[in-house]
Amino acid sequence: MNGSISSIENHTCRLCDKSTLRPFLDLGSMPIANAFLSSEQLSEPEYTFNLYTGFCESCFMVQLIDTVDPNLLFHDNYAYFSSISNVMDQHFAALANIISNEIFYDEELSVIEIGSNDGILLEKISGYSSNTIGIEPSSNVAEVAQNKGLKVVSEFFNSDLAGKLVMDYNPAQLVVGANVLCHIPDLNELAHALNTVLDDEGVFIFEDPYLLDIMSKLAYDQIYDEHFYYFSVTSLSTLFERHGLRLFRVEQIPVHGGSMRIYGCKSESRRSTEQSVVNQLQIENDKGLSNLESYIAFADSVKKSRLSLVALLDKLQNEGKRIVGYAASSKGTVILNYCGIGADVLEYVCDNTPSKQGLFTPGTHIPIVSIESFASDYPDYAFVLAWNHMKEISDKESEFRSQGGRFITHIPEARIV
Ligand SMILES: [Zn+2]
Repeated sequence: MNGSISSIENHTCRLCDKSTLRPFLDLGSMPIANAFLSSEQLSEPEYTFNLYTGFCESCFMVQLIDTVDPNLLFHDNYAYFSSISNVMDQHFAALANIISNEIFYDEELSVIEIGSNDGILLEKISGYSSNTIGIEPSSNVAEVAQNKGLKVVSEFFNSDLAGKLVMDYNPAQLVVGANVLCHIPDLNELAHALNTVLDDEGVFIFEDPYLLDIMSKLAYDQIYDEHFYYFSVTSLSTLFERHGLRLFRVEQIPVHGGSMRIYGCKSESRRSTEQSVVNQLQIENDKGLSNLESYIAFADSVKKSRLSLVALLDKLQNEGKRIVGYAASSKGTVILNYCGIGADVLEYVCDNTPSKQGLFTPGTHIPIVSIESFASDYPDYAFVLAWNHMKEISDKESEFRSQGGRFITHIPEARIV
């Protein structure tokens, strides 16, 4: 084991700039996860990059080694609309409630949401405060929120914008962002901007997929182009401390297959650091999140998971079963490309997002159809490409199950459920 680790090349960490970034998981050549293709685009060359993750032994941040230009990801035709999922709608209602009940609320206090998407959370917070601003660089989703009457600036959040916001609206008492930190390539700039925009006693709350869940659930499909980073409390504390900020509370939450909600403030704030931060740092230390060996072991388990999935699909195909994919998700793009599953295995992928229907999956070119098409001629098996929505999907598709249909899930190992 030691021999293989010491032979691993070093790269430069994007955050601390030291040459201690050690690659550990290579998911291979990958298209942009949300770049669904039209039939005309199928014959054109497709953009791909190497989906390769590394762990920095100096600042403990897990990150992508090669990244995609954010302008290719968060553009004016961004395909993910938060409001499409009922589970997420309920989740954001609960978050808005926490904000109003627990974090000092007053209608005049200024609130900024970074990455406000189609306004799903911003709309709920606006019910409590008249002084809310959303920041959303993808203009098409920002426009959806603006059409609801919400105040949204369609730009990337950085120090320049933070300075302007302070001048125009006063320092923020609350900055909130759901599933957004991991999307920002320059987190030093983000932390600096956060310090600029935040009131001295202001609070920030962020929710992002949690590295410990990814590792313990073997959820390698959380790793894709839009997620530049995979956070632990250890790595985020290290980052924020370098920029005069501090975490004072952390909570594990179930969304996106396992996330972490962090609460932070300026280092010199009167708020005291709560026991939850100390406890989670200890848990992470016990689980080896500061050691490269743990990541090498994770990568080995991911390879085994792929073998089990390919073997199960092969077996069912040899038995003449009809298999389809369910949910044209970003996760699905990673799974299908990493495991080499194409249109020769899955007849189609069904999805309830109208803008994806009629398109094809990135890299693997499987046609995407509506849920109605699925219901009109049930296959034998539906491989769920959004395992974190398994319960929601299973409850909704009781008719499929009652007609003998079965779902397939792939982690930690492939199985029929
Ligand atoms: Zn580093």
